[in-house]
Formats: sequence, structure tokens, C-alpha cells
Amino acid sequence: MSMFTRWRDKTTPADAAKATPNPPPSAAPTGQREERIREIGVEMLGLARGKSSLLSSKFWSDKLMDWAMQDHEFKVQLFRFVDAFPTLTTPEMVHDHLVDYLTQPGVKLPPGLSLGLKGGSLAKGLMTSTISGQIKSMASKFIAGTDARSALPGLEKLWKSGVAFSVDLLGEACVSDAEADSYRDKYLDLVGALPGAVSAWPANERLERDHLGAAPRVNISVKISALSARFNEIDPEGAINDAMRRLRPILELARDNGVFINFDMESHRHKDLTIELFKRCCEQIDFSAGIALQAYLRSGDDDARDLCGWAKRTGRRVTVRLVKGAYWDYETIHSEQEGWPCPVWAIKRETDACFERMSEIFLGATPRSSGEGGVTLALGSHNVRSIAAAIEGLERLGLPRSAIELQMLHGMGDELKTAAAKMDLRVREYIPVGEMIPGMAYLVRRLLENTSNESWLKAGFLDNASPDELLQSPHVFMDAESEPCEGSDTPADISPDRLDAAPERHQLSPAIEGVGDSRPFYTEPMRDFADAGQRNAFAAAVERATVPNIANDSTPEDAARAVGVASDYFPTWRAADPRHRAAVLTKAAAIMRARRDDLSGVIINENGKTWREADADVCEAIDFCEYYARLAVPLFEPQRLGRFVGELDQLWRQPRGVAVVISPWNFPLAICTGMTSAALVTGNTVIVKPAEQTPGIASIMADIFHEAGAPREALQFLPAPGETTGAALVRDERIALIAFTGSKAVGLDIIQAAGMPHESQTHVKKVVCEMGGKNAIIVDASTDLDEAVLGVRASAFNFQGQKCSACSRVIVVESCHDHFLKRLVESTRSMVIGDQTQPGTDIGPVIDAESAGKINHYIELGRNDCTVALAMSCEQERSPSGHPFVAPHIFADVDPKHPIAQEEIFGPVLAVIRAKDFDDALRIANDSPYKLTGGVFSRKPSNLDKARSEFRVGNLYLNRAITGALVGRQPFGGFGMSGVGSKAGGAEYLLQFVEPRACAENTMRRGFAPEL
Ligand SMILES: Cc1cc2nc3c(=O)[nH]c(=O)nc-3n(C[C@H](O)[C@H](O)[C@H](O)COP(=O)(O)OP(=O)(O)OC[C@H]3O[C@@H](n4cnc5c(N)ncnc54)[C@H](O)[C@@H]3O)c2cc1C
Repeated sequence: MSMFTRWRDKTTPADAAKATPNPPPSAAPTGQREERIREIGVEMLGLARGKSSLLSSKFWSDKLMDWAMQDHEFKVQLFRFVDAFPTLTTPEMVHDHLVDYLTQPGVKLPPGLSLGLKGGSLAKGLMTSTISGQIKSMASKFIAGTDARSALPGLEKLWKSGVAFSVDLLGEACVSDAEADSYRDKYLDLVGALPGAVSAWPANERLERDHLGAAPRVNISVKISALSARFNEIDPEGAINDAMRRLRPILELARDNGVFINFDMESHRHKDLTIELFKRCCEQIDFSAGIALQAYLRSGDDDARDLCGWAKRTGRRVTVRLVKGAYWDYETIHSEQEGWPCPVWAIKRETDACFERMSEIFLGATPRSSGEGGVTLALGSHNVRSIAAAIEGLERLGLPRSAIELQMLHGMGDELKTAAAKMDLRVREYIPVGEMIPGMAYLVRRLLENTSNESWLKAGFLDNASPDELLQSPHVFMDAESEPCEGSDTPADISPDRLDAAPERHQLSPAIEGVGDSRPFYTEPMRDFADAGQRNAFAAAVERATVPNIANDSTPEDAARAVGVASDYFPTWRAADPRHRAAVLTKAAAIMRARRDDLSGVIINENGKTWREADADVCEAIDFCEYYARLAVPLFEPQRLGRFVGELDQLWRQPRGVAVVISPWNFPLAICTGMTSAALVTGNTVIVKPAEQTPGIASIMADIFHEAGAPREALQFLPAPGETTGAALVRDERIALIAFTGSKAVGLDIIQAAGMPHESQTHVKKVVCEMGGKNAIIVDASTDLDEAVLGVRASAFNFQGQKCSACSRVIVVESCHDHFLKRLVESTRSMVIGDQTQPGTDIGPVIDAESAGKINHYIELGRNDCTVALAMSCEQERSPSGHPFVAPHIFADVDPKHPIAQEEIFGPVLAVIRAKDFDDALRIANDSPYKLTGGVFSRKPSNLDKARSEFRVGNLYLNRAITGALVGRQPFGGFGMSGVGSKAGGAEYLLQFVEPRACAENTMRRGFAPEL
């Protein structure tokens, strides 16, 4: 099933009602208006095309681009190589990576390049230097200089040619307060220095005045996410305050120096935050203000109306740079991965149409006098049709051309800039400046955009489409072809070009088919905290949560009685229809879904998880129920083996008997539900003994199963101390199966106890046992450090490192070790430690004093023997929930044999180990008895392949965090000292809870068999 059908299936009537419908066709320009749009467009195209009828562009004339346009696979690998290029510090590394990328399966090499790949060292050297030169030259087309000062001569030349500028500072992702401070200083420097530097330039009436007065000469674009390491939608107030702290001095200086500041728009998750921040800044500081809004968002019309309403209401005059949006592929893929409704239009024409509707809304809000509040429109587009439609609107409203501005990107559509200037428009170029590494993300976005088959510039400049095609109305097609919103999601509407734009999307669907005869399985989408409705509902649930007061007072005698009840009931539950048992699970999932946020609230308060961690716990519990319900039904259907005439060979399964579930506190709902539901649905009767730290949420789980139809004899809840009652339970001779998740010590004890049968015992006990990990992440030389720092930080410190999958060793290849460590330390230092019930908290408390003591012991060992790279502390000793704090610690130069690099710690302690090269890193990573999770951050395809075959862990993660496995998508579990058993959330998991039986019948009677 494709992603598109999935959205449709999953859209509830309420969702559909909330979705922004396309406006009625009457909003589309018709007749005279279309004619005028065409006239304006033809004029602009004519001026841009000049005497020769072809638009020329330097961009596509590059050899690399020429090659990229000929073969999709080549383009994919080339762009990946370009992305990694700035981190390759020697010609050998460049050559190595290039060969690696270009020899990937399916890549068709252009003739010139194959020679370089196969040739001797001279040819190789030539190829490496040619490609390096080409990439630098491409980058220099889009990026004007390493900083504003080096770009100044270019800006002046531009100004003199009749084009204004907006300078943008390129940067790596901001992962720490220190980096945010450094960006603030760079912006301050820019706002302070640029006005003086440009003051001597000749005056230019067209560029410096709009229809109401002076327009600042210096225009600076700011990326808000660069000014805060915690611009996180989960905590809007915290995010806004943190960004505001650094923005305020910039905006005040801009006000004093007469500098225009534009807030760029980034990913959808930050959209509402950025708009809210913008409004608050405008209300508090009187600077020349602008913000970019994106027309590819389905919310575009509402965003436009909201901002215009605010401007009119507050009397503030602001500029909106209307753009289509630069992250279409990301938004599409990300929403699909999360199972969220896609925030962007699915078809390019819908984006174009939205752009025109938003233009109309902004033109309607253009202030007519200097004291009036409203919105001045700046068109950020290279699409002549989009521009012409706005100019037509301007004329219709009787506004002069100076009432709008046209903005285009540096290095793109230069001919159009000249044409627009000739048409008396104020043209501004968006000029990024910065170093190569941070510039790469920007460069790759531009390359993707320019080579996309949806690109207007490509159609106009490379494919040389006719004016009729280039100026087509986007509305006509939409009215004729698509229903509002949903219609555009049908597979028939997906053009080959769109498949080309995001080829991987179709493999991303989390639907797991063939696991039952009911609807396919989907992982439960986590809460989207960018959505105020979801965020507020969650906050209310956390606030009202009360943890059931459950005493762990069941005795060994209680346990024996429970086993008696379970044994007596086993034949009945075994005989129940598997479909009935499966229905109990799906009903339990439905109840959990309906009470999702309340369950999260209990977890947060009972075990100290932060918001997202608790939400993920609940989602996983729901997933286990849904997934195992689907797996269980076919498991009990007899299978015929072979097709021999006169012989009926069959195999089927039976439940094992009485199961004991012993669950941990770190996934108090998910793991407890996973083991319980697996045992129950396979017809075993179950006794659940939860961790002593989290009996409250486990008791709710048991209640939910009972409410869903699990008989009380089939599922008994037995909160008890592990050392006495737990130990007695696993030793009871009537127990057939023990499902355990927890520490190595207890796990091995259970395995040993289960292996010693009582004299009267009639069966061997089965143990499903998942234990710990000492998980490593390798950071390779060509790693994208933005991703590696955040991936390692999340893997090591989310939920305070109390996950068996958590990263506790990071092994870093020498060449990037110091830079990585510095960024990781600063990034971790910027995490907020505190009360886990607050949304902005990154790090909550640990589970209890005993655990804190153990973690502190390892911290002490690290302090004694290793370099302390980071030792954080927490002002409070305990969280309001009563749990103690242990703050993150990072130790560097750790000997791979040191206890903190060998023993499981289960807390926020990370050992950083230096490796000579990738092979050395792999060797160190494998040097552990645990084999649970592992990760690699690398942009070298052959190293990723090597990790697949040689990094011996149960769950390997490449270029992403190593925690957060999803049911059905990333079945979870290790080997070695990490566990015995097959993967939880995997297709084989339930097989451990049943026994196979086979039967062979001779169906031949006197030489006659039914099949003949
Ligand atoms: C001065 C300036 C500043 C900018 N600032 C920002 C900014 O702050 N934030 C930002 O996000 N972008 C920004 N951009 C980038 C801008 O979003 C892209 O340049 C723009 O997408 C290109 O649009 P176009 O009208 O020139 O080209 P067109 O070729 O007409 O449009 C291309 C755009 O259409 C959209 N699209 C492509 N395929 C599909 C599809 N299948 N379905 C729906 N839509 C699709 C995408 O947004 C794509 O980029 C800025 C651009 C300019 C010129």
C-alpha cells in the first residue's frame, strides 16, 4: 500500500474538517486577468531572453550538472558526494569517497569519468582535482563569500547594476548555547558594520524607496534556529524566550542603524513558533521587519490571513517575503516517517496556486499611507508566472510597482533580475555568505531545486519551454483535475517527476502487510508537539495525572496461589479461539489509544520520563498489541507441509502453559505490555510481576487488558519484591515460560534457575530474556557532525541514558575527534536538566537512589582515570516527583578496557574513545560481551557496508540515533550477553511463546487417496 492510500485511510472526518480546503474556483483569475498576467509574463520573458531566443544560464553549462541531468542515480550519488566533500581533508580522501559513491550499484558513469576511475595515479589525480574544482566553482555561484566583508565588493557591484541585497549568514545547525551566542555576535557585527560600509554607494531611487517612503539599504536575513539551541516546539515559551534573548540586541541595533531584518522560514515544525516570535519582536521593538512565509504549506492561506489581520490590528507595518518553500522533500519524507498528515501540498501546481492566493491576500493588506499598519509584499520567486500574477494584482488594486519588491537567490535567474529591473521593479538578491562546510546544506538544496523536474527555472532555462507552458495558470489544472486536498493524494496524480523528486518515499511506509487478515499494521504516530491542540491536551493530562498507589506486597504464598489459578485456567484459555484472544489485544490497544496522554502523564510522574519519551512508551505499547494481534491468528492455523499424495503432513502450534512476565521500570508500559500481550495472545495464562519502581502504570495496563476482555484467571497482576516473590515465581515447577527484560545479573540468575528442574517437573522451562548493552556509536571521518552530535547526544542522554539501547561509548576517528568532542560537550551542556513534567526539560531525574549511587560510582571511576570533558550538575537534588538527579558526564581519552567503557552503567555517562581509523573503531566497538545496539555516522558507502557485515550487534543504526526502535519496523533485541531470544516487535517473536506440533496422516486406503 502506498503512503497516499495510508493517509486517506487514516484521515478521520475530524481531520478532514480541519484540513485547509482549496478555495473555490472563483478565487482563480479568469478572462481579462489571465490575459494581463500573460502579457506581463511575456514581457518579462522577452526582456530576459534578449536578442537570442534562448535563456542562457551558467548553472547547467557546468560539466557536472550536465552529467547529473543525464542519469538519476549518478545525480543522487554526486549530490551525496558534494554534501560530504568539505569534510574530506586530503586528496586521497576525496578520491576514495568519489570512487566509493560512483561505483554504487546502478550508477552510469559518464565516459570522461570512467577513465579517471579506472586509470593510473595520474588520471586519478586529475579527476580528483577536476571534480574538486568543479564543486568549489558551483558553490561559489550560490555563495558570495566566506563572510560579509569578503562579499562586499560583489554587493557593491550588484548595487551599481541596479540590484539590492539581503545578506544571509550560512551556518552549521546550531546545537549549543555557545554556537547560538557565536551566531548572535556575527549578526551583531553585520548589523553594526554594513551600514557604514555601504553608505558611500551611489543613491538609487528605485532600490531605496517604496510607495510610502525610504526602504533601508542594508537588509539582513536571519535564521532563527541559529539563535537558539532549544528552538523546540514542545515548549514554545521557553523557545521564544531563549531566541528573544539573542535577537533583542540584534533588533535594537538594527533599529538604531536603520537596518532591515528579515526572519527566514525553515521547517514546518518551527513555523508557528517563528511567526509568534516575529509578532512579539515587532510589538516590542520598532525595527524594519520582514518574515518569509511559505506557499507550499497547506496552511498558507490561513498563515497569510492571520499575519495580515495581526498587522492591521496592531498598526504594525511589516514585509512578507512570500516564497514557495525550500524543504519540500524533507517535509514530505518526514511526515511520512512520523505518520503525520503531510503539511505541504502534494502537487507543484497547488503550491503555485497557493502562492498566487497568498499574493492576493498580502496585496489586499498593503498599507496605503505611511501611518497605516499592514503588509508589504516581497515576492521570493524566479517563476515568471507567479511574479506576473502578483503584478497583475498590483495593477488591479491601483498600486504602483514600488509597492512590491522582487527577491531572487544569488546565482539563480540572473537574466530575470535584469528583466525585472527594466520593468521598474525593486529587485533584491538573497546573498548567502559562509564557509564551505556550513554552506553545503544550502548548496545541495539549490542543486536539488534546480535539477528537479518541477523547477520553473529548469523548464525556462534548460528545457526552454514555450511561453504558453511557462505561463500556464496553476488554477485551471487544479479545478479541472483535482478534488480539494484529498484528490491530490491519489496515486494516479503522482507524476513520474514527483517520484523522481523523492524516490525513497515509497519504501518508507510503516505498513507491515501479510501479518493477518485484518487491516495492515501501522506504528502509532507520536504526538506532534508543533500542534498547539495536541500540546495543550498533553500538558493538561500531565498536570492531572495521579499515579495509582500500589504496594509491592505480594508474598511467595500469593505467588503460589496465583500460579494455581493460572494452571487451572490454562486449558480453557488454550482452547479459546485465537481470534478472540487477538481481539482482546486490539481492544486493549484501542483503550490505550483513547487514554494515551493520561497514560503518559502517569509514566512521567512515576518513572521520571520526559514528555516525548513517555509518549513514545505509550505508542510502543499500543503497537505491540496491534502487531502481535495480527501475528497470532495465522500462527494457530494448521499449515500443510508439502503436497504428497496419500500423506497429510501438518504443523500447528500450542501455547506453552503458565507464563511469568517480569518487566523493567525503564519502559514501564511498553515492555510490560509487549511481553504480556505476546504471552496472552498465544494462549498462555500470565502472571505479571512488574518492576518495584513502576507498579502504578503496570496496574493500569492490567486493568486495561481486563477491560478489553482478558479473563482475570488468564491475566493476574502480582506486584511484589523481585528478590523474594519474583525469585519464587520463576522457580515454581508449574511455570512453563518466563519472559524477562532487565539486568544481566537477574537475567542470568533466571536462566540458571529455569535450567534446574524439580524432580516432579514434567517440562523444561522456556526463558525469553532480554538483558543489557554497552552500546557504541562510531563517528567516521566524513561524518556530518551536525547529525552526529545530535544523534549521539540523544542516544546517550535521552531518558538519562536509562535505556538498554542507549549509547555509552562513542568511538571517534582521529581526524574529526577534537571538533566532534567540542561540539558534543557544548551541545550537552545546553540541555535543560530539571522537572520532567515541564515540556522544556531535556533531562529528568534517574529512577531511584540505588541507581543514582551506582551511576555516581562510575562517575567517580571516570574522574579518577579519564579526562573529564563535561561534568554537569543540577541545582536540585530531587525532582518534585521525588526522583534523584544525576547530571550528564562525558569522559574523554577513555581506555577501551576501562570499566566505564566495558560495564553497563544505565545512566547519563558517556565514554569517548579515540580511534586511528574506521577499522580500529570497529574493532573497539566489537570489543564487548554485549551485542545489543550499535551505530555508525559516516558518509562513506563502503564503510557503511563494512559496518553492516562486521559490526556485530543485534540492532545496527546508520546515520541516526540508536534508540527508539519501532515495532515491526526495527524489531529489537541483541545476542551475546544482551539476551537470548528473538526480537521483540519482530515477526518471529511469538514463536517463543508456543510449541510446534506436527502430524503425519496416511490418507491412503486400499491404494486409494482422496487427492487422486
Ligand atoms: C529571496 C528568496 C528568499 C528565500 N527564503 C526562503 C525561506 O526563508 N524559506 C524557504 O523555505 N525558502 C526560501 N526561499 C527558497 C524558495 O522557497 C525556493 O527558491 C523556491 O521554492 C523556488 O520557487 P520558485 O517560485 O522560484 O520556483 P518554482 O520552480 O516555481 O517552484 C519550486 C518550488 O515548488 C515547490 N514544489 C516542488 N515540487 C512540488 C510538489 N510536487 N508539490 C508541491 N510543491 C512542490 C517547492 O517549494 C519548490 O521549491 C527563498 C527564495 C528566495 C528567492
